[in-house]
Amino acid sequence: GKSYPFKGTFPPTWNPLAYLDYNNLWRTMDEMGKEIPSEAPWKAPHAEEWDKMTMQDFIDKTCWTNAAKSFATLFVNVDVTSEPHEVSALWFLWYVKQCGGTTRIFSTTNGGQERKFVGGSGQISEKIMERLGGRVKLRKPVVRISQSCESVVVETLDHELYEGKYVISAIPPALGLKIHFNPPLPPLRNQLINRVPMGSVIKCIVYYKETFWRKKGIAF
Ligand SMILES: Cc1cc2nc3c(=O)[nH]c(=O)nc-3n(C[C@H](O)[C@H](O)[C@H](O)COP(=O)(O)OP(=O)(O)OC[C@H]3O[C@@H](n4cnc5c(N)ncnc54)[C@H](O)[C@@H]3O)c2cc1C
Repeated sequence: GKSYPFKGTFPPTWNPLAYLDYNNLWRTMDEMGKEIPSEAPWKAPHAEEWDKMTMQDFIDKTCWTNAAKSFATLFVNVDVTSEPHEVSALWFLWYVKQCGGTTRIFSTTNGGQERKFVGGSGQISEKIMERLGGRVKLRKPVVRISQSCESVVVETLDHELYEGKYVISAIPPALGLKIHFNPPLPPLRNQLINRVPMGSVIKCIVYYKETFWRKKGIAF
């Protein structure tokens, strides 16, 4: 029943040890991120070591206080809708680096939460679809992809066939399991799609008629 208003990106702490622990956590994550090449994270000097480590291992190793541990857990939950034990440290640190680092990913001003599309970002796909006329097919899940030397044939659930020189697949990797590939996918790709479950999350966005928090000067 008590509120703790604060300014800034992260909730403040009055405990000096927790404060040091928070700072060390963000600094360590950002420093590690600097070592990871954006275009080829697997080429990071410690790629193998960090990829074998989960974010839970990282948090246990890095944080000393419960305050920093629980905030680090929340940070993973919010950013990638997964639990820290479910994600590779290499992947998560790369993800945060790609978003401009720990502060930018979490901030409102000059950060991930600053802007939204008026009318929703789904409009981008809808406008592209309008421009492409009737060429975008909805409700046509692909169930089979057969490739020969000459072409690739794609079959939908309702048995329609489409032929092309190439196929660009942009479905979430795990859903590749619902498609029959001929020839079969390479073994490594096949193993990958068996091991990349989706996170589970429901996000609720709340709108207020007025930005009362700004008037009170308690947040952005
Ligand atoms: C709750 C939630 C909130 C999010 N909030 C944000 C946010 O605030 N900001 C942000 O930047 N990102 C956010 N994201 C992440 C963002 O939505 C995704 O990263 C992005 O939509 C991924 O785009 P995509 O095109 O790769 O995949 P998707 O949008 O998943 O598109 C894949 C498409 O493939 C289709 N498909 C699947 N299987 C088949 C098949 N067999 N045949 C044919 N088509 C198929 C699907 O129907 C779908 O249309 C959020 C995600 C979630 C779940």
